[in-house]
Amino acid sequence: MKRAAAILCGVVMMVAFASGAPNLHPTLPNPTQPSPNPTQPASASTVSYRVTFPEPEHHWMQVEVTFTGLGTRPLQARMSRSSPGRYAVHEFAKNIFSFEAFNAKGVALTPTRPTPYQWNVSGHDGTVRVVYKIFGDRGDGTYFAVDNTHARLNIPASFMWAIGLENRPVRVTFVPPAGSSWKIGTQLFPTSDPMTFTAPNLQYFMDSPTELSDFGLRSFTVKNPDGKTYDIRVAAHHDGSDADLDALTNDVERVVLEQGAVFGEFPAFETGNYTFLLDYTPHSDGDGMEHRNSTFTSSRLSIANPQQRRQALGTISHEFFHAWNVERIRPADLEPFNFTDANISCCLWLAEGFTQYYGNLLLIRAGFTAVSQGGIGFGGTINAVVNGSGRLVRSAVEMSQHAAYTDAAASIDKTEFGRSFISYYTYGAAVALALDLSLREMSDGAITLDDYMRLLWVTYGKPAGATPGLVARPYTLRDLRTQLAVLTKNKAFADEFFDKYVEGREVVNYERLMLQAGFVVRPRSPEAGWIGNVQVTPLESGGLTINPPQGNAVSPIAFGTPAYEAGLEYGNVIVTIDGQPATVETFGAMSRKKPGDTATLTLRRRGGQMVTTTITLKPNPALVVIDVEAAGAPLTDMQKAFRESWLGSKVK
Ligand SMILES: [Zn+2]
Repeated sequence: MKRAAAILCGVVMMVAFASGAPNLHPTLPNPTQPSPNPTQPASASTVSYRVTFPEPEHHWMQVEVTFTGLGTRPLQARMSRSSPGRYAVHEFAKNIFSFEAFNAKGVALTPTRPTPYQWNVSGHDGTVRVVYKIFGDRGDGTYFAVDNTHARLNIPASFMWAIGLENRPVRVTFVPPAGSSWKIGTQLFPTSDPMTFTAPNLQYFMDSPTELSDFGLRSFTVKNPDGKTYDIRVAAHHDGSDADLDALTNDVERVVLEQGAVFGEFPAFETGNYTFLLDYTPHSDGDGMEHRNSTFTSSRLSIANPQQRRQALGTISHEFFHAWNVERIRPADLEPFNFTDANISCCLWLAEGFTQYYGNLLLIRAGFTAVSQGGIGFGGTINAVVNGSGRLVRSAVEMSQHAAYTDAAASIDKTEFGRSFISYYTYGAAVALALDLSLREMSDGAITLDDYMRLLWVTYGKPAGATPGLVARPYTLRDLRTQLAVLTKNKAFADEFFDKYVEGREVVNYERLMLQAGFVVRPRSPEAGWIGNVQVTPLESGGLTINPPQGNAVSPIAFGTPAYEAGLEYGNVIVTIDGQPATVETFGAMSRKKPGDTATLTLRRRGGQMVTTTITLKPNPALVVIDVEAAGAPLTDMQKAFRESWLGSKVK
């Protein structure tokens, strides 16, 4: 099993170059520089970019890209509409405000616009040089931002490419603003020129976010059972001290080692290293985005604050797990990623949800979250899925397929996602918890979810692709079911689990499964009456209006609740309750009734129609998870052992 070599805290590897801008890459050891040869010099077919920042304070950059060897065909240059790890369409072309094209002799060519995302250039001499300017001021994992402190480039959001040239090598030269001390952090392959990087193809290039800033750099080394070592680099643009970054790096190392222990090895990072590209500044936009050999993570947290530094580990843990799960153990419907449209996947409940589960679980195993803290945080997950009204209409697979509309998608109409959708992060984490505990139960602890993840890793993730950026053996939904049967040697178990809890809309018995570890799952207040989540606002003219949805924040009345069954909906005005004028007081009195009690309401619907309805209260179904000892029973030796096997560190 892997061991960590010495941590290189305090060693900021910077070398000043003639350009005046320091750069890290030539000084970084690259002990496992593998396969293709992406560092070779530009060939005739290479797509070459040159990136400049003439006025960073105005939040735009200029990109010059040269396409050669085009023959007589028109160039079809285009911007991506989507970005890996974000499943909605984001229309990155909208931020381009200047586009010019020239042939090899510098003669200007006139483009046409067949689509909003595309520029066609014909009449060239086999070469087209495009020069465009693009605005960006959202520094997260999806978009791009430039200002006087940094440039944070998510590649699909900022770089144009050409249809038909997707397999050509890419070469990009960054020219930081004059007088800046920006360095370059990226998973792109370095060259002898410290400002120039390469990618073997468009897929790898698009997957390689790049941070240009005066960031701090730390690194440590991990070793695989085959003897190969990889540098894990922490490149952080932050407002803390060197000591704060050292402390963060120490914590990151503990998390990274715990993750490696799940799979038994680290992926063969193609560049010989993995880079956490972190942005913790007051003007960051919160996000975390996974990539093959890096993560682009940003937040307004300050690493100078120990509590906030600890909070930052949640995203760090989640994103690093993705280096296996989704970057290499990859659903077939995301491989290769389609940059021209939204991407639909069967399996974000596994790709994101299992990652969510492990992101939290591994912080417990690494000792950052105490087991006794509020039932280890699984209560919220269980409650959201057991009681989520969305489960009445969509399975975990169907939630995944809805990502194009829910993953930061923008539109102006009302949606009912609050009652018909449960995030595949949450749903998937609940499925992961259910499967982990079920496997342990059915095998007396001999088989765990770690074993399932390792099997998926060895079968689908580990086989190397033909070239960095491509996955050789992506999985299908069917494969996931088949491999569960292989692991358990129990096809009936695998079929039942997938039929009921993945493709069906049932939930496991969390109460029984969690008790194995000495956690009690029970209703928070079953004696309390409940009508559902109904929020009201008093009207000056009398009565209570039921609040309308605001995005996903306030949902329509949830399916299956007493309020829904009685016909209440947002926008209705409650006029009377049990014969009394509807006020905050009479509404409160109704909410305090017991299960089985009824209340009679008169409602005024749109258009003035008056209706009378009777609402029958149910027991409040909200669940909590508490320690068995807090519930008044002793923690048995068996429960203690179960807990240790599940939640204890696996780092040898
Ligand atoms: Zn994720």
